[in-house]
Amino acid sequence: MSKDPRKHTGYFDVLEAFQKAKVCALCELEDRDMLRYLDNLLYENVNDVGVRADLARSRGYCHRHAHLLLEFADGLGTAILYRDQVLQMMDFLKGQQGLPTKLYRRTLPKAWSHDAACPACAIQAQGRRRNVRTLLEWLGDPEMRAVFDASPGLCVPHMLMVLQQVPSAAKRDHLLKVQQSKFEILARELAEFTRKQDYRFCDEPVGAEKNSWQRAVHMMVGMKDVF
Ligand SMILES: [Zn+2]
Ligand SMILES: [Zn+2]
Repeated sequence: MSKDPRKHTGYFDVLEAFQKAKVCALCELEDRDMLRYLDNLLYENVNDVGVRADLARSRGYCHRHAHLLLEFADGLGTAILYRDQVLQMMDFLKGQQGLPTKLYRRTLPKAWSHDAACPACAIQAQGRRRNVRTLLEWLGDPEMRAVFDASPGLCVPHMLMVLQQVPSAAKRDHLLKVQQSKFEILARELAEFTRKQDYRFCDEPVGAEKNSWQRAVHMMVGMKDVF
């Protein structure tokens, strides 16, 4: 491995993600980082004043991150965080009482809106910007290019983001060419999968196409819980 001093932790993070990618490496990185963030939150930050103030401003986590939090099945941590949310809702309901009907109807849809984005979304967006920047910065590097070219490619939402920010026509054309070839492979696998569903061919051994229908969904919309 080369010892370019400009290759920072972020570089190796992205490099390794493309090396190991099963679907879109940028989705897998974000997924890993969000699970780490929530794990850390539940492990040591549920009583942190700053964390709880942020959650009060954002009215808790967004739908996606709240449900991701539930997957940790940490009753105590979740109860501590969500008691705050429930108390906030009680205050809100109290504030709505006695308001003139006209005013109430007009203001209600916005009244429970939040002043800040979901804190987990903010962290995820930061990581996403960093990973996209790192990939684009190092796409000319032989190691990065090799792992990117050999990976399953980027999902559509990440691909569009990367293409929008690509700094040169040469890098853009390279990205387009690689993505084109990945979608071609996928289309062939889907056709092969479909063919083998036919009773005449269903005894043929299964190959890489066996989970192509799942990978196709991930590639078109990104991994679950990432977007
Ligand atoms: Zn992705
Ligand atoms: Zn969120």
